[in-house]
Amino acid sequence: MGFQNSGGEVKNNNGEPEERKLLPVCFFCHEVPEEGIRSGFFLRGIFICEKCEKELVCSKPEKKDEYMLSIAKLRHILFKDEPPR
Ligand SMILES: [Zn+2]
Repeated sequence: MGFQNSGGEVKNNNGEPEERKLLPVCFFCHEVPEEGIRSGFFLRGIFICEKCEKELVCSKPEKKDEYMLSIAKLRHILFKDEPPR
């Protein structure tokens, strides 16, 4: 019955909805790509720029720290709206 928080912190984002902004801001690097929405993609309403997308796709074993960080962020995106099952 309990939600056990083991290690990780759950942050509540009280910011304005991203949709209301004219240009998307990347969830990872907080940058606005020059081509805006066209140089990235939305994942569950969160924008990921092309640069960060490539970083995710091109993550190599030797960059394990970066890879794990990216995966952790992705998990946060993927599961933050999901009702617990
Ligand atoms: Zn980015």
